[in-house]
Amino acid sequence: MIGLKVPLLLVLLHAVFGSAYRWFNWQSEITCESDAYIAPENENATSSFLREQYSRGSLIKVVGNGHGFGNLTTCVDTSRTEKPSYIVSLTNLNHLHIDRESMTVTFGAGWDVYDLINELKANGLSFNYLGAMRVQNFVGAVSTGTHGTGSSLGNMATQVIGLRVLDSQGNLRIINETTNAGEDLKAFRVSLGALGLITELTIKVEPTHLVKKTTKVLNATTNYSQMYGEIAQLYKDHDRLTVWGPHFDWDDKVQDWEIEPTYFASWWEPTNYTGTRNCTLNYCANGCGDCKKNYICYDEVSDAVSCPAAGLCTNEFYAEIEHFFPIEHLVDFATNYTVFQQNQTPRMKAPYNEQMIFQYRILKGDDTYLSPANTYNLGPESSGLFGVLEIDWLQTYNNFTTLWQNQALAEEFLPRFGETYNVRSHWNKMSPPNATYIQEKFPKLPEFLDIQERQDPKCQFTNDFLIQQLGITRCANHLSM
Ligand SMILES: Cc1cc2nc3c(=O)[nH]c(=O)nc-3n(C[C@H](O)[C@H](O)[C@H](O)COP(=O)(O)OP(=O)(O)OC[C@H]3O[C@@H](n4cnc5c(N)ncnc54)[C@H](O)[C@@H]3O)c2cc1C
Repeated sequence: MIGLKVPLLLVLLHAVFGSAYRWFNWQSEITCESDAYIAPENENATSSFLREQYSRGSLIKVVGNGHGFGNLTTCVDTSRTEKPSYIVSLTNLNHLHIDRESMTVTFGAGWDVYDLINELKANGLSFNYLGAMRVQNFVGAVSTGTHGTGSSLGNMATQVIGLRVLDSQGNLRIINETTNAGEDLKAFRVSLGALGLITELTIKVEPTHLVKKTTKVLNATTNYSQMYGEIAQLYKDHDRLTVWGPHFDWDDKVQDWEIEPTYFASWWEPTNYTGTRNCTLNYCANGCGDCKKNYICYDEVSDAVSCPAAGLCTNEFYAEIEHFFPIEHLVDFATNYTVFQQNQTPRMKAPYNEQMIFQYRILKGDDTYLSPANTYNLGPESSGLFGVLEIDWLQTYNNFTTLWQNQALAEEFLPRFGETYNVRSHWNKMSPPNATYIQEKFPKLPEFLDIQERQDPKCQFTNDFLIQQLGITRCANHLSM
């Protein structure tokens, strides 16, 4: 009963006094005004809150840690609607249960990746599939298909084998591999917050183990097809590889991008090593440290593949795209993206450009409806592996004009190259809205939208991003009513 009181009290307080809450994403350039921030104490309280809001048709945006570059977590601004609009965080749902027999962990939606890694490590366990960072909320990361690198590894969502989710009326649905032969799991693993509030996940884990990480400095060249040919070969030679580069620096005098003479690649391998664990000592991330050097380190797998809390050494605005494409296209794809970017340089007139970083990874395809690595439309000639290109445009100063310039450019790559290379965008990284295109690259979208209608008949969980990206036409008028 105590669990019910806090959210209800918050709603009452809001009704009496007003308690507007402004939401910001991680770099504070995405923001919206909501009526209140609701953080229920547990699943029952969340369900009661939803049940109550259903009759009012309130607009509800569930958020993780806002660690994205797009409008996925933007609430419907109170200036646009007569309905109440809430930001909901399930940060208080922090139970956890480890089942060693089935090697699974079940935990509440409040767990962040960072804390979960540490909890698992303390219990001699680990998960294999991580992004490069660990600041996300775990459900938030899974819900957009966050991934790392590895030709035998899927994205983080592929390790989910069960979940509990509340629909907009507060009804609980338990989904796992046995309750519905996995079919619903294919929709709920990557759900973009559109199918309800996930209160709990069960994931597969493995005994913790050490891996060897090798980093090697490589020579860059503006003969892009040659350089990308060499990178394609690296992907044949190594199973689990990230290529950090090429890097370009902005030369203010000549107003052009100058390629750095070197870039580097890291790969991870199994090892029997038993000595000191030292990747966390020289892991280079977040713009910290001297990254370009040849070195080998060994560490527990999570610490070797993801960024520990090394601090944040670059914290100015940046724009980013991340595009998934069948790996067979790598050389042609990468060459054309790089040439296109370079051809756009004359229009990058805004000040404060600093650096442009290309980064390549590899990912095993999957059969999750909205996974960017879904294999539904791949032909028989495809290996089922995806290359992943990230381009970051970094600034020296938090200037909005420059950010918007770079974001506008970022959105041009998909319309230009999408059809040619069967490209899919990371949902949380500057994905331009085009529902027709999304339907083609995500052939199971109609099935997803059927479930979305069942889970959210009054469109309370939608926002402009979801409506435009997924083409949820039935919800188009709901936001401004
Ligand atoms: C600097 C930086 C580096 C990054 N590196 C990588 C990377 O290496 N690989 C990669 O793939 N991605 C990367 N990302 C993207 C990031 O991992 C994803 O955007 C991730 O989804 C963010 O997690 P979050 O907890 O902040 O979620 P949020 O952005 O807050 O939310 C993401 C989605 O999850 C939904 N959601 C959150 N909680 C719930 C819930 N309880 N129930 C239902 N839905 C929910 C939200 O509604 C939203 O749709 C990076 C992002 C940044 C900013």
